[in-house]
Amino acid sequence: MTALRICIEVSCDGPDDHTECPDSAAVRRSVDSVTAPQVRADGRTQGWTTRRRNGRLRDLCPTCRDPQPPA
Ligand SMILES: [Zn+2]
Repeated sequence: MTALRICIEVSCDGPDDHTECPDSAAVRRSVDSVTAPQVRADGRTQGWTTRRRNGRLRDLCPTCRDPQPPA
């Protein structure tokens, strides 16, 4: 049985436009999620959020959503 390859991936855009995600995080999508909105819904259950920045939608993983100040 051949698995259908679906290449929707929602990856983290980092805490700001000049900083890449330290974890190179991507949403772990559920098997039923095919479209980007569905994958983003999966992400929300994992603590992800989306934020509009410079008119573009950015995906933020839990780490980048709540950046910790340098120790
Ligand atoms: Zn991130």
